[in-house]
Amino acid sequence: MPELPEVETTVRGLEGVLKGRRIAHVEARRPDLRRALPLDLGQRLTGARVTELGRRAKYGVIGTDRADSLVFHLGMSGHWRVDPTVIDKHDHFIIETDEGRRVALNDARRFGSLDLVRTDELVDWPPFAALGPEPFDVAAEELKARLAGRTAPIKLLLLDQRIIAGLGNIYVCEALFRAGIHPKRAAGSVSLERLRRLVAAIYDVLTEAIAAGGSTLRDFASPDGELGYFSKSFAVYDREGQPCGSGGTVRRIVQGGRSTFYCPHCQR
Ligand SMILES: [Zn+2]
Repeated sequence: MPELPEVETTVRGLEGVLKGRRIAHVEARRPDLRRALPLDLGQRLTGARVTELGRRAKYGVIGTDRADSLVFHLGMSGHWRVDPTVIDKHDHFIIETDEGRRVALNDARRFGSLDLVRTDELVDWPPFAALGPEPFDVAAEELKARLAGRTAPIKLLLLDQRIIAGLGNIYVCEALFRAGIHPKRAAGSVSLERLRRLVAAIYDVLTEAIAAGGSTLRDFASPDGELGYFSKSFAVYDREGQPCGSGGTVRRIVQGGRSTFYCPHCQR
């Protein structure tokens, strides 16, 4: 499943193809993904110039000079293909630029989404309005306030997009390991000093993953390049029974129906 670093890498890759270009043609090859595509998608995007690309949580945002933003979510399996030589049956939405370059949103499982939102209404758009701060922007003091009084495990609350946006299972496990915080610890009981370490750890694990993804960006310049997925190495994630590197052994537990990987020796 794509997490924030994949989305960020995808946005940077799309930027190289789309930014500043006029959209010559769009093709919606089916009426829906997870939900229906906007009926006026083609009418509103064709002829518009792409002015900026950005990311909010795990959404990519493609802004145009018509004050519309195309917002995409990759769901479970979505990715953009750059300059596909042959259109795949799972290429559900295609943008062609005035330079004749094409990007295709490919999503075999169709848990992704595409929406058109007025750019000045983005902050109030319901999926965005409900989101907590970006993990790169949050201060330890703010996180402390958001977790105050909460007795639920810190692992589960870090996955709650209303508390902090954009974090998925992998990076929550990795950040808690680096910060030395036990995933079952009551969220409201974690000290400000330890939250400072956690905020720094979140920043570091995401930044390192984005850098790793960025190093693969040159591959997207070639036809049939695929944006968004790259191999990464983790300290604890999916490493049950293996050494943590500091004398402990990685353990797996289930929290909220999902696997948590942690080191009982390093995390308190
Ligand atoms: Zn350890």
